[in-house]
Amino acid sequence: MASHTALLIIDYTNDFVADKGALSCGLTGQKLAPHIVELANQFVKNDDWVILPTDVHTPNDPYHPETKLFPPHNVRGTWGREFYGDVAKWYDQNKNRDKVYMYDKTRYSAFAGTDLDLRMRERHVDTLHLVGVCTDICVLHTAVDAYNLNYNLVIHEKGVAALSPEGQTWALDHFKHVLGATVVD
Ligand code: ZN
Repeated sequence: MASHTALLIIDYTNDFVADKGALSCGLTGQKLAPHIVELANQFVKNDDWVILPTDVHTPNDPYHPETKLFPPHNVRGTWGREFYGDVAKWYDQNKNRDKVYMYDKTRYSAFAGTDLDLRMRERHVDTLHLVGVCTDICVLHTAVDAYNLNYNLVIHEKGVAALSPEGQTWALDHFKHVLGATVVD
């Protein structure tokens, strides 16, 4: 069976992107929307997968490691967990397609405690393209797990943003030189 490709749009929600988001990358994050939408349309057109792994939390969960690190964010059912801007519009228009799949994740990595690896293997997907936020947190941890599971990785530089410019530069270098990823515009 031929190998397939998937685009992962990671955590592109109001809390991580909008001005009033709880943990926002701000303008650098907001600027990604047109490129992410363009890529998503391209993947749909090529009959490839578009996957949206999306953080979900319960506020002040005493058992969750992020509770002591970050303010409450991406709480289920809130505005903060809705997709941001044109990506929200794109998802509304495309969510019923067979190859568009949004699911919950509770840790940084899209693989942690989820069925992503099984789904990708069932569908003979061996190459993952990553976009979304934050480059040095959830995108990074997803990329590390993908590396350990032997996926080919493509990171879209104009599709990822971090909380700081230093974080962005460090993570892009790490993708290239430590995870063997292809970093493209
Ligand atoms: Zn989180």
